[in-house]
Amino acid sequence: MTLKSLNNNSCKIFIDKCSFGRGGFAAQNITKGEVILTFTGKIITLDEVLAKDEQLVGNPLQIETKTYIDLEEPSVFINHHCNPNAGIVNTHTLVALIDIGKNEEIFYDYSTSMSEKDEPWTMECGCSAANCRKTIEDFHDLPTSIKEKYLQLGIVQEFIVREHNSVGKISLSQAN
Ligand SMILES: [Zn+2]
Repeated sequence: MTLKSLNNNSCKIFIDKCSFGRGGFAAQNITKGEVILTFTGKIITLDEVLAKDEQLVGNPLQIETKTYIDLEEPSVFINHHCNPNAGIVNTHTLVALIDIGKNEEIFYDYSTSMSEKDEPWTMECGCSAANCRKTIEDFHDLPTSIKEKYLQLGIVQEFIVREHNSVGKISLSQAN
């Protein structure tokens, strides 16, 4: 599986310096619901992710329990924010959650694509959101209200939604 053929990313964003190093910014006004870009790169396994240098381990996008996209430019430069203006749908498509003005930085919440209970990876967050969680961690460790918000928006990776639903069923059957 390769997603390279879907690469038509160059027009809507540009890469520039930001408080996190480099980030992706809107090259034009983007409307709520609009596709911003497709995450592209080679499909790699969890073992290949873990073999990376420490600084690069956080770069790949998780798309299945042990499967990742080793993100290439420009999608690798999209940063995390605890109050994101974009989210991932259909595994590898970034859409705007709100209207985004030209030159605004584009963010998604990395936790919407993180579920790594065997090899948990976390990252400190220094975003400016009032609701900053300080640590970026697995979706399943998010506060319930945030999980529900992201599930309703449909911006949680499908394998995580499946995990979330099966955990719900297990706890229901235990309660009975
Ligand atoms: Zn934050």
